[in-house]
Amino acid sequence: MVYISKIIDELGERIMSGGQIDRYEALKLINIEQLSDVYHLLSWANRIRESFHDNKIKLCSIINAKAGSCPEDCKFCAQSAFYNTESPRYGLVEKEEVFKAMVEANRNAVDALAIVAAWKGLNEGKMLDLVCETIREMKASRLVRPDASLGMIKNQSIADRLREAGVECYNHNLESSRRYFPELCTTHSFDDRVQTIKYLKNAGIKVCSGGIIGMGETREDRCDLALSLMEVGADVVPINILNPIKGTPYENVSPLSPLEILKTIACFRFILPRQDILIAGGRVVNLRDIQPLIFMAGANGLMVGNYLTTINQRLEKDLQMLRDLGLEPYIEK
Ligand code: SF4
Repeated sequence: MVYISKIIDELGERIMSGGQIDRYEALKLINIEQLSDVYHLLSWANRIRESFHDNKIKLCSIINAKAGSCPEDCKFCAQSAFYNTESPRYGLVEKEEVFKAMVEANRNAVDALAIVAAWKGLNEGKMLDLVCETIREMKASRLVRPDASLGMIKNQSIADRLREAGVECYNHNLESSRRYFPELCTTHSFDDRVQTIKYLKNAGIKVCSGGIIGMGETREDRCDLALSLMEVGADVVPINILNPIKGTPYENVSPLSPLEILKTIACFRFILPRQDILIAGGRVVNLRDIQPLIFMAGANGLMVGNYLTTINQRLEKDLQMLRDLGLEPYIEK
């Protein structure tokens, strides 16, 4: 019998020398149960993180530029018009709000600020003109990298216009595996999201795409999500951990254990060694005091500042956590 620790060593060595793991091997890792093997997996994920990303941690923030009343029915989302939640509802914010958020981000060594809107997607027209104008001005300020998360993109020319305006990185999550996606959303498909990513790639825009774990999906689904992200060519991979919101269909979903979350992050690191793996929403409520282990599990990024509809821990506390771990914020040259 080959001990799992030996398999972890072999796969770790292969990745460190530029290789990849396949689905069968990824499933072996995510199904590890023995605590000592879980910690062994984490130690390798940490080595892979250090090897490909040094001890620099990427920080990004978001601004909820248009909140609530989204016509889509994503079951985890407080901003869907389908569910009665306490989510704020407001139209596209004034540019001044975006600039205030940029100044704040710049002051705190945050690398990028993403404009986020709760709607199905971007179409040609006044809204696209306004978004492109705002992005152009954000770019010209050189305060932070202007990113965007503005839903599905209908066609190639919209993606090209965003690129011309200055969008370098666009977030569009696959959210979960192809198998589980219809469970969480019925108003659009997994392939709709893959198509948006294709337009972004064709336009030369970096793709930030990840998902949410802890929505009732299986370990296999979590593995398949990471493998799909590799397939679509995601550059940045945000991992959110479900923070059940009152009023949504997922308000009573039982949480994943902190060790299962860390093991999942480590498996993502084995499957996606070169990508930036960024831990976003739900990290404080789900990981509590063992949150710093996310970096040992292979993460090299954090979403800092408040989330779309929920409060995050204070940025100073995140920066102190990095200092205490001997890690430092990544500053774009
Ligand atoms: S498309 Fe985005 S904003 Fe709309 S319900 Fe889904 S996750 Fe929420």
